Amino acid sequence: MTGSIEGLERFDSPGKGRGLRVTRAFKVGELLFSSPAYSYVLSVKERGCYCEGCFTRKEDLARCGKCKKAFYCNVKCQKADWAMHKLECSAMTAFGENWCPSEMSRLVARILAKKKTQKGRCPSERILLIGDMQSHVEDMDNEKREMNEADVAALHRFYSKHLELPDHKDLLTLFSQVACNGFTIEDDELSHMGTAVYPDVALINHSCVPSVIVTYKGTSAEVRAVQDMKPGDEVLISYIDLLYPTDDRNNRLRESYYFTCECQECKSRSKAPPLVSVPCLDSVAPPSELLEMCEQSLEEMGAVFADSNVYMLHMMYQAMGVCLYMEDPEGALSYGEKILKPYSKLYPPYSLNVSSMYLKLGRLYIGLGRPSAGISALKKAMAIMEVAHGKDHFYLTGLRKEVAGK
Ligand SMILES: [Zn+2]
Ligand SMILES: [Zn+2]
Ligand SMILES: [Zn+2]
Repeated sequence: MTGSIEGLERFDSPGKGRGLRVTRAFKVGELLFSSPAYSYVLSVKERGCYCEGCFTRKEDLARCGKCKKAFYCNVKCQKADWAMHKLECSAMTAFGENWCPSEMSRLVARILAKKKTQKGRCPSERILLIGDMQSHVEDMDNEKREMNEADVAALHRFYSKHLELPDHKDLLTLFSQVACNGFTIEDDELSHMGTAVYPDVALINHSCVPSVIVTYKGTSAEVRAVQDMKPGDEVLISYIDLLYPTDDRNNRLRESYYFTCECQECKSRSKAPPLVSVPCLDSVAPPSELLEMCEQSLEEMGAVFADSNVYMLHMMYQAMGVCLYMEDPEGALSYGEKILKPYSKLYPPYSLNVSSMYLKLGRLYIGLGRPSAGISALKKAMAIMEVAHGKDHFYLTGLRKEVAGK
């Protein structure tokens, strides 16, 4: 660990390499630890909604006078972020529309800049860095290799003016480490805000029956128990969406993290329902076409599967997202209502997938003039979030006001 955290220790988890376990009891909803990001980056599409420095959501953010693309709470946040923002500020102006590094490249540029400022470290630690994160460069398939090559090229193109870049092989290792160990920062409705690296949280191994959940407060990660834990219990998070059946989950784990899960859930339910190929939606298609594709898939799949089938749910979730994007609250609501019940059954008791669905529905009901249905849904979201986010999280203070105001 980067430092020692009271109540926790690193250990060698059988068959999994390093892991984290508790040395005292923790109750459901209790905070195990909170971890500042080693490095983080706000998504380009969220610019103007959140402060680039502290990820606060605010209406009247102030714009960087130079590039006019980054937004901050105030001068203090802007100054604190300048060492990172200067990597992009002038380049964005110089490249204009052609400035298009991936979020991964943007994060890696920040990691490299941050490492440069850390003095007195052993030279061999210069790249292979962030603790002893696994990299799996040798396990990557060609498609991933090509993506990493493109990211390295983007780093040279957009960042070489401000960064002294390590050699090609070290960069590939770094990209691979960040791909396996990076975290997506999401808001209360699970909408993507940015990407970050948390070395301590990256020590936590995966289970399909997780003992903890990770949530975010600004750019920090918070880890809370969703099961009662006794001394010696391993701290386990889920790396993937738990909606899908065992075989499918393990395909996803192998593809992204190069291992097969052997948790109780995976061992006891090895006979999964037959896999179907879920149509892959082309996200560059215009929303109206996307919705049509969803509807058509749902009709075809509906002939074979019940509404509670996970692939039907997956498709309805996509359709709901498109409706929200197209500002069609009635359409979104009708999909959301169908999704909710099976979701509550398929996911574990404290799941952000379920709480975020309740939030979306609650806000849709209220927007459509049905406050009592809205409040009831928001309260169900809050019950989960009090455990996952903690009672004092600003999401909950905000929700209490939202509910009281109706
Ligand atoms: Zn700020
Ligand atoms: Zn700027
Ligand atoms: Zn499992």
